[in-house]
Amino acid sequence: MNAPIKPEHLNTREIQSLDSAHFLHPFTDHGDLATRGARVITHADNIYVWDSEGNKILDAMSGLWCVNAGYGRKELADAAHAQMMTLPFYNSFFQTTNVPAVKLAAKLASLAPSVGGRTFQHVFYSSSGSESNDSNVRMVRRYWDLMGQPQRKIIIGRHNGYHGSTMAGASLGGMSGMHAQGDLPIPNITHVEQPYFFENALPGESEADFGVRAAGFLEAKILELGADKVAAFIAEPVQGAGGVIIPPATYWPEIQRIVDKYGILLISDEVICAFGRLGHWFAYEKFGYRPDLVTFAKAVTSGYVPLGGVMVGDRVAKVLIEQGGEFNHGYTYSGHPVACAVALANIELMERENLVGRVKDDIGPYLAKRFAELADHPLVGVAETCGFVAGLVLVKDKATKTAFDPNLAVGMVCRKHCFGNGLIMRAVGDRMIIAPPLVMTHAQIDEMIDLIKRCLDATLEEVR
Ligand code: PLP
Repeated sequence: MNAPIKPEHLNTREIQSLDSAHFLHPFTDHGDLATRGARVITHADNIYVWDSEGNKILDAMSGLWCVNAGYGRKELADAAHAQMMTLPFYNSFFQTTNVPAVKLAAKLASLAPSVGGRTFQHVFYSSSGSESNDSNVRMVRRYWDLMGQPQRKIIIGRHNGYHGSTMAGASLGGMSGMHAQGDLPIPNITHVEQPYFFENALPGESEADFGVRAAGFLEAKILELGADKVAAFIAEPVQGAGGVIIPPATYWPEIQRIVDKYGILLISDEVICAFGRLGHWFAYEKFGYRPDLVTFAKAVTSGYVPLGGVMVGDRVAKVLIEQGGEFNHGYTYSGHPVACAVALANIELMERENLVGRVKDDIGPYLAKRFAELADHPLVGVAETCGFVAGLVLVKDKATKTAFDPNLAVGMVCRKHCFGNGLIMRAVGDRMIIAPPLVMTHAQIDEMIDLIKRCLDATLEEVR
């Protein structure tokens, strides 16, 4: 038998070797990890995390787009503790419920705005974004069966979209690297091109024209497949993991026109974009479209405990409830009382501190102003923000916007300089992206922008 492990007595090297011996990480090359050794994050406060070597790092990615309320929020720990002492777990199968799950469902229904007369009165719970999107597939298929149109099976997603890592989630997403491992997508899921103006616009095409043309890819696909075969379209309001791809203003209105015309369900995957990230509780409100299902996870608890779910709009809920009988789908942790209690405390905290409003009216516009300055840097082709997410593109030639040779992995070079300078920024190819905690002050935004400039300079030094 192995000797018992006392973590407090382990130094960085020892943790790293145990890590590489036993811990299979998500989305990780373990050969590479074994040679480098994992960075060990030990503690966090506000917008900063510390590693086991004592380095303080500004976390401009909110963990993984989660920690909207910032680190070290005692209210959330207290809520978890109190709920664990009262009722740590009970299931919500077999005509059973629990108080935090009920209160949270009602609260979420009150936060989800009605657009064009469509409202959200119901929530289906899971523990993650991926599971929630699996639930979406199940609900969409059940809906069309009940509507007497069982041939409507195909769900259309987008290239470079991200909807999770389960079989259905990875299939709905349009990540070619994920599809290549494991025979994905599963049947009846297909994809159209993303609305990425910087990369996909035609020479001289305006952003507005491109937005309409990009939405038109959906209509073309529907006509190719036959409208009576298409069940739903799924998309992120702003693509996150794909590199913070912000659609032109003309894109979503045209998508709405198309899904309405063909009667197709619209799924808004807001795992990143909800809970204040774009200055609204739910991001469909920002763009003015009317989804039937809304996926959420991550920041509903500010990432303190796992929770996800689907806001089920009236069109689908009415059919499932009034005609569906038993829906043979659910998870042990659907409506977990501790997760729901933490979510309630998180939403209360966000309301008290007006975190959503400050993204819309204060720190969002301030970030937009400061981040735009980065476009002057010789390495940057474009720098754009939406609410409290932002992305910039590293280019070889600023005037012609020529990309670097992908083999140079310039984004990874930049990411290395970020870590070296005490900043967490994510690289998606040569796009560098951020989604900082919503508690940031103006001074902290200034600090972050200074750090980004320093990292861009160091990258320029290395790649030129
Ligand atoms: N959907 C979107 C838009 C996401 O960004 C993510 C994760 O980043 C997911 C779904 C999957 O969520 P999870 O990792 O909680 O399964």
